[in-house]
Amino acid sequence: MKLYHEDMPEEAEVAAAALEEVYGIKSNLEKIELDGVFTPLPEFDGFQSSSQQISQHLDLGKGKSVLVLTPRDIYYNNKSKLDDWIFGYSNIFGLNVVSSARMKGFDSSPSRELVVPKNVFLGRLLQVVVHEIGHDVVHGKHFKKTYWVNTKKGYKLPLGSHCSDNRCVMYEVVDINAPPREEGHMKLGNEKKYDTGLDETIKRRYPEWFCNDCRSSVRITGSYS
Ligand SMILES: [Zn+2]
Ligand SMILES: [Zn+2]
Repeated sequence: MKLYHEDMPEEAEVAAAALEEVYGIKSNLEKIELDGVFTPLPEFDGFQSSSQQISQHLDLGKGKSVLVLTPRDIYYNNKSKLDDWIFGYSNIFGLNVVSSARMKGFDSSPSRELVVPKNVFLGRLLQVVVHEIGHDVVHGKHFKKTYWVNTKKGYKLPLGSHCSDNRCVMYEVVDINAPPREEGHMKLGNEKKYDTGLDETIKRRYPEWFCNDCRSSVRITGSYS
């Protein structure tokens, strides 16, 4: 698999090693410049994820899957600065994108400088990398639709389908630390979840990353060769 990175050689190497260990996927690392491919969102001081543009730019849609690592602060939507930012995403064209922008501090404030210890930062990055690739290769029939619900604003952001086992890497996270109950929750099927912090999810995660249902439904296709 091609692993593109916007000048993040160390992160790319660590991610490649984890993908080989977890999925047996081998990566070719390539530095890339994606100015003008991610759409700037000046009002949020960030970038729209621009799946279609990136997929075209990288010539995807021909049965190839790629991972893109970027330090840009990326947004799924452009309606709410507070609710629409994301750690990463995976789309149906085989495009997997992970942003390090909100993984470097004690909370999810965007930063290009490393504030937390490097192993904490890299642990967060790997959780999200294995999770996003998992969206492409884990075909769990047990997944449930998830949303981020901002209770105060009545705002709902779709997050895709996820595993309901909170020790599994395919459980969804919405922030570095789970938001306070009065602010909002993750809706998973019909349940409200308040245990969606990235750091707590890493701490309780199975040593083998997946629950049994997810593990038994991993299929690595030729798009990862
Ligand atoms: Zn997910
Ligand atoms: Zn699972």
